[in-house]
Amino acid sequence: MFDLIVIGAGPAGISAAFEAKKAGLKYLVIEKGLIGNTVYNYPVGLTVFSTTNELEFNEGDLNSAREKPTREELLSYYVRFVLDNELNVQTEELVTDAERLGDHHFKLTSDKGEYEARNVLFAIGAMDYPRKLDVKGEDLPKVHDHSRET
Ligand SMILES: Cc1cc2nc3c(=O)[nH]c(=O)nc-3n(C[C@H](O)[C@H](O)[C@H](O)COP(=O)(O)OP(=O)(O)OC[C@H]3O[C@@H](n4cnc5c(N)ncnc54)[C@H](O)[C@@H]3O)c2cc1C
Repeated sequence: MFDLIVIGAGPAGISAAFEAKKAGLKYLVIEKGLIGNTVYNYPVGLTVFSTTNELEFNEGDLNSAREKPTREELLSYYVRFVLDNELNVQTEELVTDAERLGDHHFKLTSDKGEYEARNVLFAIGAMDYPRKLDVKGEDLPKVHDHSRET
């Protein structure tokens, strides 16, 4: 039984894991892709629009060459942060179901197993779940709702 299961290892999930560890909780992060998966899917070489100080978890620890980091700098920062802080993150595991069994008692099902937790945090972002416009033509192959290399 975990105190906390976090779904998603984007910046929100990583930050939650960091705080959970500091608080001494028994926690687990389950990520369907890789650490920082949304950033991983940014176009290669992209410079993000936020400045370094707006993105780093601790002041001064995201060292980028310029004021704004590139996709690669940000991604390596997130991976390094998880490894350096020994955060408990399981990647390439999709959470498929979450069920409330009782007060502060949840069952999570993934494509690799089942887990029980007192609390569940959905840090799944918005990028993977686009709001469709429900208009003619949006299902055409040339119409995209995700950032993808062309
Ligand atoms: C090209 C581009 C540039 C951007 N530039 C900026 C910028 O400069 N500044 C800024 O603030 N924001 C920027 N954003 C937006 C930024 O990426 C998001 O705001 C940020 O990633 C949100 O973080 P998050 O942790 O909430 O969600 P995410 O980073 O989206 O993380 C959610 C995670 O949950 C995982 N997940 C989802 N469903 C499941 C499931 N069922 N089971 C397991 N795991 C799951 C996903 O794989 C993902 O890793 C940009 C976005 C794009 C596309």
